[in-house]
Amino acid sequence: AKLLQRAGHFYFSRSMGVDIRERVRLMHALRSALEAKELFVVYQPQIDLATRRPVGAEALLRWKTKDGTFIAPDRFIPIAEYSGLIIEIGEQVMRVACEELVRLQALGFTDFTMSVNVSQVQFRHPRFLDTLRNVLADTGAPASRIELEITESIAMEEPDALIELLGKIKQIGVSIAIDDFGTGFSSLSYLQRLQADRLKIDRGFVTEITSSARGSSIAEMVIQLGRNLGLSVVAEGVEDDRQAQILAALGCPLAQGYLFARPMPADQLQKWLAHHAA
Ligand code: C2E
Ligand code: CA
Ligand code: CA
Ligand code: CA
Repeated sequence: AKLLQRAGHFYFSRSMGVDIRERVRLMHALRSALEAKELFVVYQPQIDLATRRPVGAEALLRWKTKDGTFIAPDRFIPIAEYSGLIIEIGEQVMRVACEELVRLQALGFTDFTMSVNVSQVQFRHPRFLDTLRNVLADTGAPASRIELEITESIAMEEPDALIELLGKIKQIGVSIAIDDFGTGFSSLSYLQRLQADRLKIDRGFVTEITSSARGSSIAEMVIQLGRNLGLSVVAEGVEDDRQAQILAALGCPLAQGYLFARPMPADQLQKWLAHHAA
């Protein structure tokens, strides 16, 4: 509970400008949303840039209220974290994503991977590892096809405890991706100690490839870093074909973005894969 409070405090103080009454209202709405099943998971395909075939998907949470309006994850995830609701919500996302992976495997997509976002509040919860084990056991999802996406900022506090936890997760066979890579401040030696399997190039750097004078320098650096450390690299937020071509030329193995597919519900993903995976 102490950890939760601390992590909660972090998010709270970071957004002091936001109206507190609005946050409390959203927190109550989120609690009933969970009960009313207004939360659901969509999936965005991840693409092999060389072959342009899907290799996996990222599970992303959606909240559609009863009157049909969507509330963006960037708005409600911090509240879920602050209130502690993220523990239950995050477990459900993991469970649903694992169940979907098992379904996709049964349809013949056996090499397909499923990436699940994990908040630092979830990650620091003492039962996180048990929850992960239970979800894998209950759903029968293969650990080797599951990836957890953690942000670079997760890595800043208590590095030794984090490295130990990541080691245990990897022992189970689950992979680790560093999300929004390049936006934090972790050192390269620290990155090496984390034993991550994959780096995700933040969308901002992908956009810069075609929009800024510095161009592809940061994306290029991350791709090179991945190659040198033997890590897979995914470029996020690829929206046009020029970006995809430049990334492919730079040797970026994987990409994700509206150019290829938007996040979609499970039934649509299955149809999409049937068309694009052959
Ligand atoms: P993220 O993990 O960095 O996810 C990528 C975001 O970029 C997603 O936004 C995705 O829909 C969006 N995106 C993908 N391709 C493109 C593109 O080509 N262009 C643009 N403009 N955007 C693109 P989304 O789904 O709104 O999620 C926002 C953030 O909320 C996520 O960022 C993640 O930090 C958090 N989030 C979403 N689902 C979960 C979840 O289940 N658990 C946790 N802990 N966090 C989640
Ligand atoms: Ca992510
Ligand atoms: Ca990201
Ligand atoms: Ca992000």
